[in-house]
Amino acid sequence: MQSCYDRPIKMPDTLPNNEKVLHLVHDLGDCTDSRGVLRAATERFADLFGDYAVFGFLMSDSHLEHWMVLPLQNPRRPVFGAVDPDELTEKTDSDSLAQIHGRDVTAFLASNHKLRSVVEEPEIVFVASQDDDEELYADVQSILPVPVPTVLVGTWRRPSGGIGAILLGFTKQIDAEPMMPLFKMAVKLTSRLAFYPAFSSFIEKLEKVSHSLRRNLVHDLKTPATVIQGYAETLMMPEVGEDPALRQELLQGIREQAERLLEDLRDILHPLDAHWKPQKEAFDLALLLQKAVTSEKHTTRAADHEFRLLGVEGELMVSADKRKIRRVIENLLSNAVKYSPGQNKTVTVSLELANDEARITFKDEGIGMTPDQLDKALSGGVRVVDATLGIEGSGFGLDSCRRILDAHGGKLDASSSPGLGSRFTAVLPLSGDDEPNLRWPGSG
Ligand code: ADP
Repeated sequence: MQSCYDRPIKMPDTLPNNEKVLHLVHDLGDCTDSRGVLRAATERFADLFGDYAVFGFLMSDSHLEHWMVLPLQNPRRPVFGAVDPDELTEKTDSDSLAQIHGRDVTAFLASNHKLRSVVEEPEIVFVASQDDDEELYADVQSILPVPVPTVLVGTWRRPSGGIGAILLGFTKQIDAEPMMPLFKMAVKLTSRLAFYPAFSSFIEKLEKVSHSLRRNLVHDLKTPATVIQGYAETLMMPEVGEDPALRQELLQGIREQAERLLEDLRDILHPLDAHWKPQKEAFDLALLLQKAVTSEKHTTRAADHEFRLLGVEGELMVSADKRKIRRVIENLLSNAVKYSPGQNKTVTVSLELANDEARITFKDEGIGMTPDQLDKALSGGVRVVDATLGIEGSGFGLDSCRRILDAHGGKLDASSSPGLGSRFTAVLPLSGDDEPNLRWPGSG
């Protein structure tokens, strides 16, 4: 997260004061660390308004139950009881600072309906001076450690609920009309940026989502890259040089996977969200399955595995999104291999037609999962594997398999037993919502 705590802000001297504030607003606009903003703003305000005595800061939690005041002093005019901006290091905990320097005004606010209603009214700037409203002014003043003739209150609605407020106090009454927009801007600046935990957690959530997307991306691109690597390693074996047919087959495999990599790169722009629709085309599902198993056999991870491939003798023409179905097959197949580490493990892949649907089953003899782990794994974005096994993955593959099959009107079935292995079945119905997914051989 961007820290603006020690960010140097060049303030052109030639600018008029209100433009200097605008400049500051612009410069701090992307900051989210409250103390950094507070400190930077205080120092700049000291330059701009040298004769203000205190710069107060009122914080709230999301339910307005806990309010505190953290009075900040002008570095040029130290005030007893207020916080020196130098105390506000990046790691300062505002709560403890407020305990030392500020006051918990929960009781005060609760008993003062007038002030509370001012504070609870979002998006306003309230100016209280002795002349405006003596009683209210006195109440507000009692929160601050020094007498301040003019107090501004800026409030804003927090995204997670409740209201945040900032309180600025000045030694001089602001009566000159041209100064008002400047102070309003100052309030807006600090209220927008300073102490915004809800905003920070929003940014954190965004960062998590983008991290997940990156992991997902790596997962998708890794599959073809691993297969290309496997083909290339086989090609480098001396005996392959003497077998032109095998060489040709391997080179063909590399070309197909490279094409797939390019297609996947294009797919990145079209995520599997609710709007995604399969791009159906006719293809031979049995052949696709055979090719996927051949590719998988060439990977290093499958070096010690046995493969059994059943039900692919004949052609099985289907109309479905070929690339996405290939992705489902490759994902379930690579999982069956990855999650059955050790010697002589058999992976059984079978294609069946039953009850108007094609069922592609991947059965392994691997580590398996408990029912609870299986539920979690299917819910997407979760890895339930013991990290010490060192099996790589992102936890997104099963979720995208499920989405792809759902979009075809199909589903992903699974069963698993810890220590015994797992069975995943991709179910593709004979006819989808709009047009048939399957076409019988010879039906055109
Ligand atoms: P990953 O990229 O982690 O392999 P997946 O979405 O494909 O992600 O799978 C989610 C999780 O489900 C995996 O991290 C693993 O814990 C578990 N899992 C998937 N397939 C199997 C399997 N065949 N055997 C055991 N566990 C599996």
